[in-house]
Amino acid sequence: MQTSSYNPYAVAQSQFDNIAAVLELDEGLRELLRQPQREYTFTIPVRMDNGKVKVFQGFRVQHNDARGPAKGGIRFHPAETIDTVRALSMWMTWKCSVTDIPLGGAKGGIVCDPRQLSMREQEQLCRGWVRQIARNVGPVNDVPAPDVMSNGQHMLWMLDEFETIHGGRYPGFITGKPVGMGGSLGRTEATGFGVIFVLREALKDIGMDISGTTASVQGFGNVAQYTVQKYLELGGTVKAISCWNQQDKTAYTFRKSGGIGLEELRGITDKFGSIDKQGALDLGYEVLPGGAWLEQDVDIVIPAALENQINAETVQKIAPGVKVLCEAANGPTTPEADEVIKARQIYVLPDFLTNAGGVTCSYFEQVQCNTNYFWDRDEVLDRLDTKMTSAFAAVNELAKSQKLYRRDAAYIIAIKRVAQAVRQRGWA
Ligand code: NAD
Repeated sequence: MQTSSYNPYAVAQSQFDNIAAVLELDEGLRELLRQPQREYTFTIPVRMDNGKVKVFQGFRVQHNDARGPAKGGIRFHPAETIDTVRALSMWMTWKCSVTDIPLGGAKGGIVCDPRQLSMREQEQLCRGWVRQIARNVGPVNDVPAPDVMSNGQHMLWMLDEFETIHGGRYPGFITGKPVGMGGSLGRTEATGFGVIFVLREALKDIGMDISGTTASVQGFGNVAQYTVQKYLELGGTVKAISCWNQQDKTAYTFRKSGGIGLEELRGITDKFGSIDKQGALDLGYEVLPGGAWLEQDVDIVIPAALENQINAETVQKIAPGVKVLCEAANGPTTPEADEVIKARQIYVLPDFLTNAGGVTCSYFEQVQCNTNYFWDRDEVLDRLDTKMTSAFAAVNELAKSQKLYRRDAAYIIAIKRVAQAVRQRGWA
């Protein structure tokens, strides 16, 4: 989230500018790629349960669609800003490109706190968002999906509104739908599993056996839970988990000697990924301050919550033994922190490569919807593994052969592909 000292859009632009200079992109091309092609900001009036109308702010930003229809989630968050959406839309372009799927980048948002809204109010908000943007999104130009605090039910309400407006069935309009209603098997777990497919390949690369490694994770929502699930399946131990506590309006880290138990924690976690503090104490967990997840003596740290979590200040807290920074969240590391990570030679798995499993599976969902033929779960996850493994291999090969920081290598591949599409279309 944007703060007075952190602007994710400025971070996304500075990351792009650095690589544009390395690639010696023409000025016009740089100008085009360093900002979104289209932005929509709008109001969404909702009649609340108390009978009064409340007006919410909605966004949709399409960063670039040279390689295919724009694609990106809709985030529900009280601190959402247009600059956060811009940054996330730009990262989506690079994410689709680095995994070589034929989609562009977009992002959306609503400034709201769904935890404080009834189901009826949430439905009105979802339908209102679609009413405002229905002419500018759709299966062949921009395909939304869930993000932080939005889910399959929200997507289905949005689909229903879109289909009502356009008078037809357009299951390829939106992804992340419930299974049986156009959703893909495997989509719920795709981002987290994809994170671990990439981590597995990286650990092979540095000669570490994943079983026997230890990790500390920030977040316990969709991405974090399935990241942890796959990591535990492969034999890793998660020493600590940090997440937000809505009642206390602060984050806590939960630690257990011998490692956390996934199912026991799931049993005391709400649908927004908040672990019940008293429940955790009862299960024998230590409850530490929110930032303690980053200070654990582990092999791998996995930010899987929000942006700006590893910054100039917090990066200093990473324990000396940490070997891999595996970025499951979008934009968790600031450019200042990157310099420290580089100097310490921590192996970085950059966000837009590592968490691309979600959009890859969303792409599979679109393909299945558009052909009206649905694959079984194993087929989806096998295809996901193949895509993630080959995207990692390409980035790793470039990083090694050119002695590049892995984030830079991923950016070079992604930006080159988008630049080529823009040139071939004759836009710049
Ligand atoms: P989510 O809403 O399901 O979970 C977010 C988690 O972060 C919750 O457990 C919450 O308690 C925790 N959190 C929030 N603020 C925190 C703080 N200050 N300290 C510690 N924990 C905090 O969201 P998600 O879908 O799991 O997404 C997590 C990240 O992954 C985001 O950056 C998102 O953009 C990114 N991402 C999500 C997907 C996807 O498919 N869901 C795909 C790619 C990237």
